[in-house]
Amino acid sequence: MVRTQLRARGIEDERVLAAMAEVPRERFLAEEQRPDAYRDGALPIGEGQTMSQPWIVACMTALLELEGDERVLEVGTGSGYGAAVLSRCCAEVVTIEHYPSLAERARATLAELGYTNVEVRVGDGAAGAPDRAPFGGISVTASVVGEPSPTWFEQLAPGAALVCPVRHDHNEELMRFRDGRREPVVPVRFVPLVSERPEGADETEPDEGAEL
Ligand code: SAH
Repeated sequence: MVRTQLRARGIEDERVLAAMAEVPRERFLAEEQRPDAYRDGALPIGEGQTMSQPWIVACMTALLELEGDERVLEVGTGSGYGAAVLSRCCAEVVTIEHYPSLAERARATLAELGYTNVEVRVGDGAAGAPDRAPFGGISVTASVVGEPSPTWFEQLAPGAALVCPVRHDHNEELMRFRDGRREPVVPVRFVPLVSERPEGADETEPDEGAEL
């Protein structure tokens, strides 16, 4: 995986490559998905969510340009795999998951593997973790529409990067935001960030016929 999916496709950060080689991806999956763990694709993890393709995990981690002493925020814990990879590249990870079932499973897997520098929280990742800010990097693993949450920028240390998939119309792109600059990286397809804000009032009433 490291040689053919990552190095050959431009991932050069040796610390990220070492983390990808070290973290046992199969341990973050259910038994029936394990044979496919090192396949070049995303995999289902329950609750309609997915664990990202290895290349995406490596790319997002590398984009943060971590030196090892940072505290990093991850929004969207999912299986916990991305948090595990991040935890090998920085001092501490705070990761937030919307679904309690996924957070619980991720917490258990991370503990089994002895990755003690990861804190898994249940909640709305859009609010970040103000009590642990500022962060030396923020990785968002679900897509936002338009612009990332302003709260994340408030919780980012000067010079640190925020990496986030952003959707515009039908296009989605992984973007890196740093020091007021925005760089498009690669077209992607992520699950949407679940919004916990009451936005229902703006939505069109469902067609009653659809109930049949
Ligand atoms: N990094 C994960 C990939 C998870 S997919 C891994 O390595 O497995 C994105 C995750 O974001 C899903 O688990 C989804 O439930 C979570 N998510 C979506 N909206 C969220 C929100 N508002 N706050 C926290 N987590 C959210």
